[in-house]
Amino acid sequence: MILVDTHSHIYLNEFDNDREQVIKNAFNNNVTKILLPNIDSSSVVPLLKLVKDYPYNFFPMIGLHPTSVKSNYLEELENVELWLKKEKFYAIGETGIDLYWDKTFKNQQIDAFEKQIELAIKHDLPVVIHARNSFEMIYDIVKNYKNSKLRGVFHCFTGDIEQAEKIISLGFKLGIGGIVTFKNSGLDNVVQKIDLKNIILETDSPYLSPAPKRGKRNESANIIYIAEKIAQLQNVTINKVAEETTQNAKEIFNIKIP
Ligand SMILES: [Zn+2]
Repeated sequence: MILVDTHSHIYLNEFDNDREQVIKNAFNNNVTKILLPNIDSSSVVPLLKLVKDYPYNFFPMIGLHPTSVKSNYLEELENVELWLKKEKFYAIGETGIDLYWDKTFKNQQIDAFEKQIELAIKHDLPVVIHARNSFEMIYDIVKNYKNSKLRGVFHCFTGDIEQAEKIISLGFKLGIGGIVTFKNSGLDNVVQKIDLKNIILETDSPYLSPAPKRGKRNESANIIYIAEKIAQLQNVTINKVAEETTQNAKEIFNIKIP
């Protein structure tokens, strides 16, 4: 069984003291392929260092996170383009719109998102979307590209069944993480109704640890709890969840998994 964590920030300093151990834990729990979404120009170097150290296990993305969109965002996007010329990346991400914390740069966030969609199309890469308090806005933008090559994932999906169906109709995947294990999240009822072919697994570590580790620092090994919960909801084996979601991740990110 191979499990893929399609969204981990293990390069962040939250893991500086025990990163090797955290990687070992992941491998010991069959999580041997891990995608690394970028945040901004300050995170690229530590992110790529991990990829150099473990080229068969870590797969880098490049992009500008919506909460890092400030007045200098055009410079940040130039930096993204420079990196795209220098290294191989597996996705543009994470990008999107986040109106939960701060709406100051809302227009810049929208512009940065659209520019990163164009980059994804130009480089034939999937796009990893962070949507927080912005689903309809994002959906309206992405649906304009419905007949293009644009593909990707709505990462950390927490919406209702209608939103899930909208995402699926765009040909996008749902990134399902720890929230599916939370009591009263309602996400369990949604995931129960979605075909496994539309789901990929993610931790978003160090954030959003699943039950029974809720509240603690999250890590890729915890994918196992998310896979178990989905297996239970779908009334299939965890092997089946692993097989299908790994296949989905492999296809969307074009990564080699033996
Ligand atoms: Zn993230």
